[in-house]
Amino acid sequence: MLSRRASSSGLSVGTSGNLSIRVDSGVLITPSGRDPERADLGDICLMDLDGSQIGGDLDPSSEVPMHLAIYRTSDADAVVHTHSPYATTLSLTIDELPAAHYTINGLGGPVRVAPYATFGTPQLAQNIAAALTDRSAAILQNHGAITTGASLQQAFDRAVLLEWLCTLHWRALQVGRPKILTESELADVRDQSARLRYGSQR
Ligand SMILES: [Zn+2]
Repeated sequence: MLSRRASSSGLSVGTSGNLSIRVDSGVLITPSGRDPERADLGDICLMDLDGSQIGGDLDPSSEVPMHLAIYRTSDADAVVHTHSPYATTLSLTIDELPAAHYTINGLGGPVRVAPYATFGTPQLAQNIAAALTDRSAAILQNHGAITTGASLQQAFDRAVLLEWLCTLHWRALQVGRPKILTESELADVRDQSARLRYGSQR
């Protein structure tokens, strides 16, 4: 299960972090305070988009509001939230993760840092939904990271990419001032990716 992989890949530590996925009847989300190594399918909670629990015996994650806000305001079908070490470290010091590496295009471009608000509050949910405009990732100030996708696998892969980009940026800051790609260089990367995709389909 992906929550176990999130744990074993170092994206999460202990019970922090949670996953959710959109289904026909609402949103499936991991329960509160459950060690991902020990959680199983029967522990998953089913919520409607207004925040009422409609299935599952355990209490849902306390971070349900931000998951639901994303489903209400975007077409995302899966959300992965972690307290991964490097994204969380940078969440203390930066306002945006700049485009130091071209693969940041896989997250929609430079990653915004959503302003701090208490976990589980509508204010935090609102800040995150705004930070995710035209992006599939956001960093949460003094808190962690969040990624979205069309599937749990895609959201998870983006969480791994975001953590790698944060690690790279952190390392670069130790030895100098990172060079940052321009918007036009990022646009060229998008064009090149589209060309290669088109070519591979012929
Ligand atoms: Zn959190």
